[in-house]
Amino acid sequence: VFALRLAEELKAAGANVWIDKLDIEPGQRWDIAVRDALTNCPSTLVILSQSSVDSENVLNELDFALAKRKRIIPVLFTECEVPLQLRRVQYIDFRKDHARGLIELLKALGTERPLASSGTRSNTVGDAPDALGSRSQHEKEYSRSIRTVEDYGPLLLLETGSKIYSSYSPFDQHYPFKWMRIATTPGFETQTRGPSESREKRPRAVSLHVYVLRDPIRPFEIQIGENRAIRYHKWGRGRLLRLPSLSELKAVYPLLVHPENQWLQILLAELTNDPEALEYMAWAAKRGDQVEAEIWQAIARNPSSPTSLQAEECPFCNPEFAEGRRIRQPFSQEAILIANDFPCAPFFDYLIFPREPIHTWEAAEESHIFKMNWLAHRYLQSEFDPKSKTVEGAAGIRLSSSSSARHLVISRRTRSSAEASVSHIYKKLWGMGRDAVNLADHLREICVRCESRGLDYLGSYLKALSRSKMIIWQDDNVALFVPFGQIAIHELQIMVTRPTKTFLDLTEEEVRSISRAEYIATRLYRCLNIHSFNETMLSLPFEETRAKDFRLIFSFVPREVDLGLSELDPLYVVDKQPWETVVEIDRVWPSRKLEDLQASSQA
Ligand SMILES: [Zn+2]
Repeated sequence: VFALRLAEELKAAGANVWIDKLDIEPGQRWDIAVRDALTNCPSTLVILSQSSVDSENVLNELDFALAKRKRIIPVLFTECEVPLQLRRVQYIDFRKDHARGLIELLKALGTERPLASSGTRSNTVGDAPDALGSRSQHEKEYSRSIRTVEDYGPLLLLETGSKIYSSYSPFDQHYPFKWMRIATTPGFETQTRGPSESREKRPRAVSLHVYVLRDPIRPFEIQIGENRAIRYHKWGRGRLLRLPSLSELKAVYPLLVHPENQWLQILLAELTNDPEALEYMAWAAKRGDQVEAEIWQAIARNPSSPTSLQAEECPFCNPEFAEGRRIRQPFSQEAILIANDFPCAPFFDYLIFPREPIHTWEAAEESHIFKMNWLAHRYLQSEFDPKSKTVEGAAGIRLSSSSSARHLVISRRTRSSAEASVSHIYKKLWGMGRDAVNLADHLREICVRCESRGLDYLGSYLKALSRSKMIIWQDDNVALFVPFGQIAIHELQIMVTRPTKTFLDLTEEEVRSISRAEYIATRLYRCLNIHSFNETMLSLPFEETRAKDFRLIFSFVPREVDLGLSELDPLYVVDKQPWETVVEIDRVWPSRKLEDLQASSQA
């Protein structure tokens, strides 16, 4: 009865609801209808009462929905024992206050519906947005330690005696995290006025707020505000560029084969991310007397292409290329170290990749990541004596990786795509220039200043992250967490728990732990449907003798955001708060068991 009432209420409020009791046609097979509905719906409500959690059918449906990686929203109707699978998922409570529960539920459902009528938003535009109900457990735990301030002063780490800004302060026991709430220039929304025959559209000012914070580890300012990070699909004002499906492609392809339309073929070869469509285009490019070489190569280098196609054009899979550049080393036969033909670092620039043909990070196993990291570590240890400080002239080491998905820049004069030339997974290892800009400079300065006041900045930051439930996985050596200063939604960071200055300070166990955390990050991204990221290591130069509490940090930044602003200013704009990333991770990986993550990332 409760379920029927709820379904009616949700339908009345405009939500698209499917409920077995109402929507199965007579004669339809019940089990098939339920499976179809579970497969096709974006989210599943599970009504929790003692009788539902005791029901075999309900638990089966729940498992099915979890296996399909559907969003589950538990609705607590009466007191009962919450099933294990749902323990970590935020539930909506209908036990005491039905009306309030309904509002929360509609809000939760509304977050995935593209259209919100602008009228209901007027004064909330730009406010810190809600995802799964503002009263979620995560937000509570998180905001317990945050102070909202009105000007930059409190973000300045005054106690350090220098002009350093950070939204994390180890000096404040109660509110170590701070952000600033600013009423910014107003936004405008179009309002339709007047009688229906002469409707007039005029803009109406709406107040906007943003939250500003200073990344605790980098010199970046981050603004959180939905209106600043506006995306088309959210507002229904326009459609995102959509790539053709295989059948649409087949219909237009005969036209594109005409030489005058070759530019369109190349564009599609670069951009299409549907493997079947790419395979079809490759077949079309090879048909006829000669292969359309340029188009063929573009298809084969596209990271979404089937592996067999990629391997044909992949330089790392080409023995001649790889062997010719290979650096002989006794440490690993399973990972390969080569000199980078296009070095961008002044002293040394190596690429490391696994021997296996692996062309996406999503397909890499933990062992592949460890093999690359361990080879990098052993090779550098043997080549360089950090104590001599003359490591072929390099001041320190950098290590990075990026996913092979590309970001294409097309203009009249240039056509470039970042990191796109090789889709085979690899890590890049290079030498820092002396006194060159180092991403860790800011953090080093903070560490040094705090140290002189007897405080371990990163150690206490890690504890505060743990208290705020921002750490999503950890072992004895490293922690994987959602940083307070997220420069992109879904940014993840790995911090080595023990003070460590450079990559060479790590023990084998620590390299193993980092590799595992990296593996978890790539699998999580897969579950979250993120296919493009950069990973960078923040480390100190060899010669640094202060900053004794510094710890190595690896940062994963998804590239599925527009970072254009960062080229103008060290400013990042995001539309969600960091705890919302934790909520999303809880949804796809509630158990925090490695085997569950593997299973759901393969689904
Ligand atoms: Zn390859």
